[in-house]
Amino acid sequence: MAQVANLSRMLLSKWRCELPASDQSKSEGNLHILEEDLELYAFGRLHPSKTPDLKSHLEACDYCRERLREVSSFTEQIGELARRQQALTEERRREVRMPANDQAFVRILRPEVGPRGEARILETSKSGLLLEMAVPVEPGVELQVQLTDTMAFAEVRHCRPADEKFHVGVRLIDVIPFGNPQT
Ligand SMILES: [Zn+2]
Repeated sequence: MAQVANLSRMLLSKWRCELPASDQSKSEGNLHILEEDLELYAFGRLHPSKTPDLKSHLEACDYCRERLREVSSFTEQIGELARRQQALTEERRREVRMPANDQAFVRILRPEVGPRGEARILETSKSGLLLEMAVPVEPGVELQVQLTDTMAFAEVRHCRPADEKFHVGVRLIDVIPFGNPQT
């Protein structure tokens, strides 16, 4: 199992290294597919309205097809890790992976992909999280929540102002652990 932990740490560092690059390419007006769109496509979570453009670009562009192959092998490795760790119950995963007060990074995925913002986990439950965020989000919005060793996809249920910030309740859709609690 130590091998799994090492691989997951390597994958996580790769994931992190790629984030600033995608922000950069956006600001430079790069005409190739954005890193974040490739990631979402590989995760099967790209917005349907963006998918036809992405597919036609892929058909015409060797460079982006190669990038997609790299991103896909990365997401497959994450999926493999998740499968190996299915012995953990959902409850235990969340208990281990999402302690209250943990810092998180949050990005809106739907209806429109937004920039990454900081958040803090206030409470966890079997089915969801209570997050503190700097900006309000509408119920129904889908979020990507990135923690130290976990990535989650979640849907916003409610949002209320609290001390110049916002308390956002989300329902967890999918939880992908990167690490191994036994090591
Ligand atoms: Zn391209």
